[in-house]
Amino acid sequence: MAKYIFVTGGVTSSLGKGIIAASLAKLLQARGLRVTIQKFDPYINVDPGTLNPYEHGECYVTEDGAETDLDLGHYERFLNIYTSQANNVTTGRIYQTVINKEREGDYLGKTVQVVPHITDEIKRRMMLLGEKKEFDIILTEIGGTVGDIESLPFIEAVRQLQWEMPDEDCIVVHLTLIPYLKAAKELKTKPTQHSVKLMSENGVHPDILVCRTERPLGDDLKRKIALFCNVKENAVIEAADASTIYEVPILMMREKLDLIVLQKLNITKHNEPELGKWRVFLEKIRHPHSKVMIGLIGKYIELQDAYKSILEAFIHAGAENDCKVQIVNVHSEYITEENVSEKLTGLDGLLVAPGFGFRGVDGKIVAIKYARENKMPFFGICLVMQMSAIEFARNVLGIMDADSTEMQPDTANTVIDMMEEQKKITMKGGTMRLGSYPCILKENTLAHSIYGVVEINERHRHRWEFNNQYLSRFEDAGMIASGINPQTGLVEIMELINHPFFIGVQYHPELKSTVENPQPIFVSFIKAAKDFSAGNSNNEPLKILSEMSRS
Ligand code: GLN
Repeated sequence: MAKYIFVTGGVTSSLGKGIIAASLAKLLQARGLRVTIQKFDPYINVDPGTLNPYEHGECYVTEDGAETDLDLGHYERFLNIYTSQANNVTTGRIYQTVINKEREGDYLGKTVQVVPHITDEIKRRMMLLGEKKEFDIILTEIGGTVGDIESLPFIEAVRQLQWEMPDEDCIVVHLTLIPYLKAAKELKTKPTQHSVKLMSENGVHPDILVCRTERPLGDDLKRKIALFCNVKENAVIEAADASTIYEVPILMMREKLDLIVLQKLNITKHNEPELGKWRVFLEKIRHPHSKVMIGLIGKYIELQDAYKSILEAFIHAGAENDCKVQIVNVHSEYITEENVSEKLTGLDGLLVAPGFGFRGVDGKIVAIKYARENKMPFFGICLVMQMSAIEFARNVLGIMDADSTEMQPDTANTVIDMMEEQKKITMKGGTMRLGSYPCILKENTLAHSIYGVVEINERHRHRWEFNNQYLSRFEDAGMIASGINPQTGLVEIMELINHPFFIGVQYHPELKSTVENPQPIFVSFIKAAKDFSAGNSNNEPLKILSEMSRS
């Protein structure tokens, strides 16, 4: 039977609960245990797919097409496992299920209430992954901060589960903040005491406290926290600020977080942690041999969480190339024909970011043109494969009114059109083309040389597609479709033949990049940027860099 670890947060948001949960999971996995993580979010949206990135950061998409919280991206990147629809549950989804059941008559005669009906449904979902018998440990991160009205039913569900299960099958790890007051020159434990008290009032007592702090806690302070919060001294874990999120598992191991968890869960069968690859990766990001400057062109650059997976994929790809990837954010809304060269000269490559709607699209098209004409390494994701086609149609094929119906519904030349099955859809939530689909690569193309295999699977999130009626004109003029969906003929990858590295993909390759398996296009793109930076870019096809290909 699986054992359960619940991770809650107190004092303030943004303490990095997702990273702490992922780091603990990594350590347990490194000891040979089968681990997965899930996240329960207290908001009422059924999933974050309908949320603006300004509200919620990136929407992460799983293999099975769930639109989820970006913490699932951290789980996958750290653990090198796939998560699924079952790994992210919101209050909205819980209520939706309960209300549907009520309409079906499942509770006939009864008043439907938060306790027990909502809490029962939360508990059912919390236990769901455990039923598969595939895991030894299931970590559950509870979104929000203890004390929020919205998270109360989740805390109550944890209380009930802890009461139902033997002590050694279910523990609670609480993440808090120990702020440093400059004026008093002191670390303060009071907010943590209050947060633990608040949890206790709700009937849940944390077994382990992980304390975020800017300064070392020291034994005295740890003892004080332990005494006032009623946990054992060895269960007070210091979580110092780290220079990179990938250092956190190592910091947590030094603090023996994994050992205290194993002790509390009474797990005696485990190995010494195997973190060799992880340490090599850390060494590489700490001591790069070279550096490239990559322009990230997007309309959400003020908010780094909006492009989380892209930024992390660059870290993985940089390590693979022994190279530091310096990201230069360029706001697409402010790029014009007049200032483009001033803004982009000196960069070694351009990644133009995906998105929805027309804001910032003109600037993206200008940037694409700049990369095409200046033979600068170029990588466009989703919307940007579409915009690369528009740019090529207008400026190379001379189809001046070429457009996407997303931006210009009544253009005569719909080079990008809404997918046929999407035209019938009226509901917005969870209705895009989502999740993993196969793609067949044409031999002797950049795409094929990057992946080194003929069939790949990548994840999608879009409604529009390249209009195949224009394909032969594109290919005759040097922009080819090098990746096609075998069932539908949908164009998944476009590339320029007379360019050292110009690739646009309809899917989101950033979602599958992990520490152990850096995404091949990102890796090759950084290699191309290094070559460009060294001034030796040429039209030779890129060599496959290592064993990066995954199908
Ligand atoms: N807006 C485009 C579409 O729906 C692209 C989406 C994206 O970039 N994820 O097709």
